[in-house]
Amino acid sequence: MYNNISDFHMHSAFSDDSDASARSMVEQAVSLGLPSVCFTEHNDFDYPLEDGKTVFNINLPEYIKSIESLKHEYRDKIDIRTGIEQGLMKSVCDRVNSFDSDKELDFIIGSSHLVNGADPYYPDFWDGFDIRRGIITYYESILENVNTCSNFDVYGHIDYIIRYIPKDRIFEYRESDYLEIIDELLRSIIGHGKGIEINTAGFKYGLNRPNPSDFIIKRYRELGGEIITTGSDAHAPEHIAFAFEKVPDILKNAGFKYYTVFKKRRPEFIKLD
Ligand SMILES: [Zn+2]
Ligand SMILES: [Zn+2]
Repeated sequence: MYNNISDFHMHSAFSDDSDASARSMVEQAVSLGLPSVCFTEHNDFDYPLEDGKTVFNINLPEYIKSIESLKHEYRDKIDIRTGIEQGLMKSVCDRVNSFDSDKELDFIIGSSHLVNGADPYYPDFWDGFDIRRGIITYYESILENVNTCSNFDVYGHIDYIIRYIPKDRIFEYRESDYLEIIDELLRSIIGHGKGIEINTAGFKYGLNRPNPSDFIIKRYRELGGEIITTGSDAHAPEHIAFAFEKVPDILKNAGFKYYTVFKKRRPEFIKLD
């Protein structure tokens, strides 16, 4: 188990798709010996109602209060930070940009969970779409988000859409088909002073690689990108720091000497061993 890298992407029951108590996540991180962790609970404005109920809308004051109390309780064992994984979409950017106006959060991941209001996780997203077109539409929406929403620090799991390509349709994903839009996207992220994350959940999904791919991580560095956080996207204690033993080599092969953590929205660079 590689335990020298901080996990800056994890969820607890403050997110509607996790049942894990925040305390159980902290306990596991402590037992793994991680230097620090950051909770990044979901907040997705305008996510479609589920059974008539609003989902993925965080109660920010209550959340901050709970994590503050854990921070204090575990202060001698681990450095806990408070973050959000904010769903980005052009139509909600006003709300995204005025989120956490009291500036209490340490870190905000901006992610695409909806493309024009639809979640690619569900098969109907792909109905009526040529798959290549669907993937390009997803990348174009990220570009639009980066140009419109400013209140985030790193873009989450950039190419995660490929996890959800329908298995029942004949299609071969070739990254080389998307180089132009990926380059445009990375340049835009760098130009706006934002970073990316290496999200190891790809290994959990059997992709045998992180999201984004090693190639995109390397390309981000080649284009001048410096800010890269590391996260497992764990929704349960057993997935904290998942496949983190692979992270140092992926980063070094891409040309990074450091990885990044955030405190009060400021990047801190930690040297790789
Ligand atoms: Zn996400
Ligand atoms: Zn997540």
